[in-house]
Amino acid sequence: VKLDGIEFIQFLSQQNYKKLHNTSIFFHNFFSVRLLCKYLTRTMLVLKTETDLICMSNKLIINSTKGGALLKDREKASSKTVKHNNKQLVLSTVLHHGPLSRADISRITGLTRSTVSQIVNELIEEDLVEETSQKEESKGPGRRGILLKGNSQKFFVIGYDVGTLTSRVILLNINGRVVKKISFPTLRDKERLLNQIKEAIYKIIELSSKDIRFVRAIGMAFPGLVNDREGFVAFSPNLKSFFDVSIRNFLEQEFGVPVVIENNTKVMALAEKRFGKAKKASNIIVLNLGPGIGAGIVVNNELVRGKSSFAGEIGHIPVLDNGDMCSCGNRGCLESVASTKAIVRQYNKYSESKIDDLFNSEAVANRAKNGDEIALKVLKEAGKYIGKAIAICVNLFNPEMVVVSGGLSKSWDLIKQEIVDSYHQYVLKAPERDVEITVSNLGDELTAIGSAYLALNKVLYGMKSRP
Ligand SMILES: [Zn+2]
Repeated sequence: VKLDGIEFIQFLSQQNYKKLHNTSIFFHNFFSVRLLCKYLTRTMLVLKTETDLICMSNKLIINSTKGGALLKDREKASSKTVKHNNKQLVLSTVLHHGPLSRADISRITGLTRSTVSQIVNELIEEDLVEETSQKEESKGPGRRGILLKGNSQKFFVIGYDVGTLTSRVILLNINGRVVKKISFPTLRDKERLLNQIKEAIYKIIELSSKDIRFVRAIGMAFPGLVNDREGFVAFSPNLKSFFDVSIRNFLEQEFGVPVVIENNTKVMALAEKRFGKAKKASNIIVLNLGPGIGAGIVVNNELVRGKSSFAGEIGHIPVLDNGDMCSCGNRGCLESVASTKAIVRQYNKYSESKIDDLFNSEAVANRAKNGDEIALKVLKEAGKYIGKAIAICVNLFNPEMVVVSGGLSKSWDLIKQEIVDSYHQYVLKAPERDVEITVSNLGDELTAIGSAYLALNKVLYGMKSRP
């Protein structure tokens, strides 16, 4: 059977009391099968104790060798758990397939009409679902049902991308629509930045004329070392003095709603998996080329995190023995020769007409396009190091796809040849055959949107980005 995560939950609920033996289910767009497994066992849609659940990259095997597979054992699950499961099922069905009538929901989920009606009433009461003014199209005689969708007026989440240069904040409604967006230069100083974050959240709510009570969660993306589990930024070299900041506590105390925090490149990788070119790939590397350089690594559909979530810091692999000082304190890191900041610094070293703003690598790219040879040379030099870094990633992780994103990806056409040439020089011939190197086609707001989705999933389904 080929299904996505939500369809699978619906499929299970239609198989009440039935047993599945040695069944393999393939998924085409659920991010993590292991995460799905955890969700299923926790909500007792599948009882792991009596079932051998084997999770593979995009496949879930239900094995019956250990005394028979048991799916959705309603008798064993407490009535409270069943009620909770059914509610989540109805909600996710409305949000993914809505607008739907109560009859549609009953047909899709396999729940009785009266159960659906009761749950829908609760969801309306809790401002999660609303009745639309539309009615379903007539399907013969009988009353036409009122259509339901997510409550677009009373349920919002904030997605916040703290960029080194620019911060972007969006307000997303429960149906996944961006209601409001703002952007502004990031303040690179701990106290001022914390204050700016707080003020920006109040501001976007005010600008959108929404009631703050209807903002249900906040998702934050930060550059640097982010511990998502403990909710703090350990170290952000490009944000001056920003280290060991318990951003989750700070915001939860201020706004009284759940806060999810994640490294920006990891959010990009999740977003590329969900909306971008890497939708169908299970093994990808997303290379974020900005003022910092990071890699979001997905292996077998799972984000590689490491013990404290700090994996992927490719910007700090050493590429030169006696190179320039890097923002991390070491010398000769990749970031010190190929970040957008390094590009401006290199350009200023050789050119007569300096660029004042160290973060403005677009100025270098524009000069290169207008025939400035120094600008072009500096960009191409950075391209060589980036190609080398991609070769290292490919040799280590054997991905299907490398997606280049971040500020420097806008100069892709200028540096592509150098990147590809140096990549070919250093990559091993066997993994090279498997990989496609491409540039992201997702816009600047993607990290903010990805953060908002992390917040939405957390508050609606209790899911975290951590599988
Ligand atoms: Zn470094």
